[in-house]
Amino acid sequence: EKSTRKPRPILQSAKLANVLYDIRGPVHEHAARLEADGHKILRLNIGNPAPFGFEAPSAIVRDMIATLPAASGYSDSRGILSARRAIFNHYQVRENFPAFDVNDIYLGNGVSELITMTLQAFLNPGDELLIPSPDYPLWTASATLAGGNVVHYNAIEEQNWEPDIADIEAKITDRTRGIVVINPNNPTGAVYSKEVLTKLADVARRHDLVIFADEIYDRILYDEAEHISIATLAHDVLCLTFNGLSKTYRIAGYRSGWVIITGPRDRAASFIEGISLLSSMRLCANVPAQFAIQAALGGYQSIDPMLKPGGRLYEQRRVAVDMLNAIPGVSVVAPQGALYAFPRLDPEVHEIHDDEKFVQDLLLKEHILVVQGTGFHYPRHDHFRVVTLPGVGDLEVALERLGNFLSSYHQ
Ligand code: PLP
Repeated sequence: EKSTRKPRPILQSAKLANVLYDIRGPVHEHAARLEADGHKILRLNIGNPAPFGFEAPSAIVRDMIATLPAASGYSDSRGILSARRAIFNHYQVRENFPAFDVNDIYLGNGVSELITMTLQAFLNPGDELLIPSPDYPLWTASATLAGGNVVHYNAIEEQNWEPDIADIEAKITDRTRGIVVINPNNPTGAVYSKEVLTKLADVARRHDLVIFADEIYDRILYDEAEHISIATLAHDVLCLTFNGLSKTYRIAGYRSGWVIITGPRDRAASFIEGISLLSSMRLCANVPAQFAIQAALGGYQSIDPMLKPGGRLYEQRRVAVDMLNAIPGVSVVAPQGALYAFPRLDPEVHEIHDDEKFVQDLLLKEHILVVQGTGFHYPRHDHFRVVTLPGVGDLEVALERLGNFLSSYHQ
């Protein structure tokens, strides 16, 4: 006998109610549909080097192929020892990096997995985590998913997007447990000075906060910019330093990242046990990609030559900054690092009330895909992010079309 009961809708969990990750959001699917219909979309939206002709370094690929037969089993849940040893050596020679051990390193399927894993191990409902605004939105999404309350602190555009220390101090409460520092920054391209990092470390020290330092762009620097790991200024603070091979080594698809825990690990034994538990529950990170780490860190396949004048990334960033600044009502702080620019639309010239609609309209009319500023938890609708990965020719076409589009765009 057939039941007359109407089948219930199958719902996502309530945990996802406030989880936002716009970089691959609905507009992205719209762009994919346009592409399926045969349109060429200029994608200035995702920091994925490979589609823009950045090849995986051959030494890394060869090493991975050679080690594939040995990589078919699960590894230690922290990661294979040779990779952790290579990471250890890589950081040990850095000036003033705090002491640590190979067992303080955890490998992951990209930094992304380690962000969600460590925040799951760290946050209780109601715990507050300070995250920059604008942010790389995975941080906010992961903290929310882990049950934490995200408190965004401002970055000051007029001061090269440096974190606003006074704003951070003002937002600290009894429930604040940690602070996320993304340096070099996505989406602003800011690289923080020693002075600012010292102040951030001091705030963490005084308020007993754990520092989550996302340094995935640490080697992607322009002009005279110098990257300083905040851990070097915070030996007495629990510091989780995240990095990986997706950007500097251009192998985002292989999924290879790590986190290093430094500072008072005895006091953090319970938290670290939690990280170990979650890391063993996912058994281990993709093993062939773990074998890429030693080849990458021990060899000469870095992105350095592309960052000098005449180098590909240097020139793309120059063209992006010059062309954006030449559009009436648009201004951009020149990024000092990473692969992005975060331009401002002057509200006196371009009145935009809904930046998601702006991105959608730009896609439909000009077939250019960018990401709206609010997708990075930026509070106002007057910014957007472009990726500086496309070649100069494509960037010129895209930014010229953007200028034309803006000259007659109204909301
Ligand atoms: N952190 C930042 C600031 C990023 O921009 C990205 C990727 O764009 C990631 C982390 C994640 O990198 P992956 O998971 O590929 O290591």
